[in-house]
Amino acid sequence: MTRTAIVTGGTRGIGAAISLALKSAGHTVVANYAGNEAAARAFAEETGIKVVKFDVGDADASAAGLAEAEQAAGAPIDIVINNAGITRDTMFHKMSAEQWREVMRVNLDSMFNVTRPVIDGMRERGWGRIVNISSINGQKGQMGQVNYSAAKAGVIGFTKALAQETARKGITVNCVAPGYINTDMVAAVPEKVLESIIAGIPAGRLGEAREIGALVVYLCSEEAGFMTGSTLTINGGQYMA
Ligand code: NDP
Repeated sequence: MTRTAIVTGGTRGIGAAISLALKSAGHTVVANYAGNEAAARAFAEETGIKVVKFDVGDADASAAGLAEAEQAAGAPIDIVINNAGITRDTMFHKMSAEQWREVMRVNLDSMFNVTRPVIDGMRERGWGRIVNISSINGQKGQMGQVNYSAAKAGVIGFTKALAQETARKGITVNCVAPGYINTDMVAAVPEKVLESIIAGIPAGRLGEAREIGALVVYLCSEEAGFMTGSTLTINGGQYMA
């Protein structure tokens, strides 16, 4: 069955792979982005996927952006992929309030901002799929990422609580916790640090964004209706939570 999906941060990296995988599975997809116009335009032209710009850290902008996405798709949103995320890494004793706040608003406030406007419609229609992208570092903690680890652990709590509230309404809420995936975010990690990270991954490599896309397609399928409140780790064996 064709459903309508919004993928936040859906024009680059993991989000782009999720957008493409959902489209290939037959869904109507709208991909959100924050401000990288060149990447968004190239992605839209290449894939034919509609793109809509809004800041997931801003509640009003998100509500307006979701309405725009529904208009572009011509149908209400049945699938939400809360994928947009940022890092502002530094040791905690050097962390500014700004670095804390920015990571919280984009990675965690966004869960509320993007899910709240569509939850009523999902409840009324008796069907919905919500997939939240956490991180291995939200599960195990990571030095230099107190802000990010806290936000990504929060995503797991959000998932479990909302899953309980919506289970009888045909809405599943799950979490995907990727390990290190080959995207721009990881390209920003210094080479020496990345080498030591890869040495600690039993699979001996980074993950590929399309591997996350395939998992998300399953979670959004009709057949995944009995899976809710789960955190799926996908990390090459780096951390077995
Ligand atoms: P990228 O940095 O490659 O892409 C980030 C995407 O999020 C972009 O499309 C960007 O839009 C968008 N974005 C950033 N801020 C906002 C905002 N305020 N509002 C709307 N969109 C925004 O990230 P990844 O693909 O690597 O990561 C995707 C998700 O996966 C994140 O939540 C990340 O924390 C998580 N993750 C990533 C891992 C990895 O190894 N890469 C590991 C574990 C988790 P624009 O193009 O306009 O800038």
